[in-house]
Formats: sequence, structure tokens, C-alpha cells
Amino acid sequence: MTFKPQHQAPTDAAERRAIKPVVVYPNGTLPEPDFATLAEFKASMKKVNEVIVPPRDARTFHVPKGYFFRIVSVDGPQVGDLNLWNANDLKERFFSGKTRALHRTHLTTGDRLWSNMPYLRSMALISEDTLDWYGFDEDGGSVHDVIGTRCDPFTNRLLSGNDYHHCCHSNLCRAFRDETGMSMQEADHYVHDVLNVFMCTGFTKDTHQYFMKASPVRPGDYLEMFAEIDLLGNLSTCPGGDCSTGHSSDEAACYPLKVEIYETDPALQDKWDWPAPSAYQHP
Ligand SMILES: [Zn+2]
Repeated sequence: MTFKPQHQAPTDAAERRAIKPVVVYPNGTLPEPDFATLAEFKASMKKVNEVIVPPRDARTFHVPKGYFFRIVSVDGPQVGDLNLWNANDLKERFFSGKTRALHRTHLTTGDRLWSNMPYLRSMALISEDTLDWYGFDEDGGSVHDVIGTRCDPFTNRLLSGNDYHHCCHSNLCRAFRDETGMSMQEADHYVHDVLNVFMCTGFTKDTHQYFMKASPVRPGDYLEMFAEIDLLGNLSTCPGGDCSTGHSSDEAACYPLKVEIYETDPALQDKWDWPAPSAYQHP
């Protein structure tokens, strides 16, 4: 005898299931990235800073509007969890869920990273992705997802009963605390759902659960973004390493990641249509 409620399918179940899906957010009205002008910005790139994120840790970095930044694989396959804020107003931050709804489950060149409401504007444009060739594999997996959230010590405690202090959420909180002077408890409220850089993920075909598999990233690969507003970035090197087996422990082989910041020719600034916060007003 089971106490879990379970219902019989109605007689027209097959008919109801056969209805064709429609895309929730047809995105053809989004502004097309101007790759011709972007190429001019790219031609003027000059590296001005780099930050090494040690394994199982995080570091913040600043990227002014009109600059590029690259997240570069060094030493070995490693997944990174990325947070972005408006450097001038930390209330504006990356909105992983709406970015997923506007683009798709995994991002690549030409996709934008959108900010939360009420701002809802592009924070950064993905300008180059050396893993763009990967596409979607036989398992339905792809790289750079906006479906996972970040590994965190609260979920780890919920599932395992153990405490682990180098989850991506913890790493991002420590780096954010060091950047802002806030406490870890305050930082909990600012750290948000991430872009899972280089992580290979999908949903299992049978149980529809979030899965991960070894990242195809190799040293030298990078994900490059063009900052469309002044950015404060925060990148965690996931304790899962290449995320082939587990996370939230010290078991996986972990490697550093490098963040490179590039300035561009300021004379080009007039040629770009910089995104403004949403003009929508509540009545
Ligand atoms: Zn992680």
C-alpha cells in the first residue's frame, strides 16, 4: 500500500502530450551583436592585468566597460563558477535563470549575460569560445551551462550531513568578503547563480536529472567576454575539478584558472550601442 498520491492518465492523454511546443521567449527581437565593430575592439586588445585563481578558491577582478576578459584554462582541466555584478551598484547582478530563458541551457559566442530585474540588460557579450566546436553530445551534454546553480555548503549538508568549506559558493563568498569588507553572512545574499564556465552538463534522458561529465576543456582553451557595463567579476575554481566524478570534497584533481583583462582603444567607445537599464516602469 502506498500513500503517495498518483493519478490515472485521462483518455485523451496522448492527444494532450502530442501538442507541439512553442519557444517561450522568441528572441529574434534581441539586438544582434555587432561583430564587425567587435572585431575592431578585438584588434585593439592589450592585456593590462591577469589574476590567477588558485584551486578550490575564488578571486574577484574588475573589467571596465569596453574591455575584454578571458577565463583561461591552465595546467589541467578545471571548471569555473562565474559571478558578475555592476561594479558601481552591487544590487545589479547576473541573472542566470533569465539568461537561460532568453538564450538556451548552455551559452557560447554571441550570447549575452543578462542582469536581474529591474535592470534586465546585457552585462557582457561572449565574444569568443574555443569550445564552440563541442555543441551538444550524444548524452545531451554541452559546455558553459546556466542550469546548475553552484555547489554550496548548504545543499552539501542537506544531502550528506557533512560540512565542506570550499564549495564554489563558499569560495565566492570569501573573495566577495575580501573585496567589499562585508561579512560572510552578508556575502551569502550577494553571491548568486553562476555561469558554469567549461563545465559539461545536461539532463539525463531517463530521470531528467542534472548531470555532469568530464569537461572537454584543455590548457590553452578560453572563454572571452566583452564587458558592456563596468563589471566586478568573481570566479571560483570548483572543488569538482573537471567535474568527472564528484564535488564538495577534496577528492578531485583541481587546477588553477587564469583571468586575463584586456583594455581596448577608447576611440572605439562611440561605435558601440551600450545597454541602458530597462525603461519599464511600474504603473
Ligand atoms: Zn563548484
